Amino acid sequence: MATFENKSVLVLGGSRGIGAAIVRRFAKDGAKVVFTYSGSPDAARQLATDTGTTAVQTDSADRDAVIARARDSGPLDILVVNAGIGVFGDALDLNPDDVDRLLAINVHAPYHASVEAARQMPSGGRIIVIGSVNGDRMPVAGMAAYALSKSALQGMARGLARDFGPRGITINVVQPGPVDTDANPADGPMKDVLHSFMAIKRHGRADEVAAMVAYLAGPDTDFVTGAMHTIDGAFGA
Ligand code: NDP
Repeated sequence: MATFENKSVLVLGGSRGIGAAIVRRFAKDGAKVVFTYSGSPDAARQLATDTGTTAVQTDSADRDAVIARARDSGPLDILVVNAGIGVFGDALDLNPDDVDRLLAINVHAPYHASVEAARQMPSGGRIIVIGSVNGDRMPVAGMAAYALSKSALQGMARGLARDFGPRGITINVVQPGPVDTDANPADGPMKDVLHSFMAIKRHGRADEVAAMVAYLAGPDTDFVTGAMHTIDGAFGA
């Protein structure tokens, strides 16, 4: 039997990049997968067709829509919150509305989705949130709001692990370093700077991150919760 046969999975932000790799991984391993998208309907439709999964449009910046999606998709065995954006530039120049939108997508949505999913989740349930090694280490200027959002997930996971642990539900954060996606292409202008911080001097692949998510979502991790799992070529070491 495939690892995730009969498991119900919701991936927030699954149309492209790391999220799409997570959708592919769960689908390959037998799960029933629903994933959300916002701005990429064509990519979402294609992925759903290719993988036999279900794509639904839900803007992670819309708190009530996120809560409704987690509720209406339940009961879930596995929730993965991947949707995330960057707002980069001199902190003195950034538009406060853009920063607040980042916090809505990167922090508020993971919190509300996790709480709502946990309401109906059975014992053995898994919540996995995609953070970033920038939650631990921020070696360049212009990324403070992004780093803030990813550090916030650490406190959230530690706290919600206490709330959900007695019900047999785990919550963990996966913290990638540079991963080759539209948001951070392996041949992008930041490549040499990013690789200079790393022991393994390349971008990671989205499927490498998906493999860590699959491990944390699997049957061997009942005792793993409230923890950060870094996959970064030693960017943060
Ligand atoms: P991409 O920009 O390539 O993809 C982002 C995904 O999130 C897309 O599927 C996008 O869907 C979805 N998304 C973005 N905003 C929203 C929204 N408002 N509502 C719903 N879905 C949304 O990013 P990555 O794959 O690179 O990043 C994925 C996660 O990994 C993020 O949380 C990011 O912070 C984190 N991360 C990435 C790293 C990297 O180097 N790539 C490193 C460390 C962490 P759509 O296009 O349909 O809107």
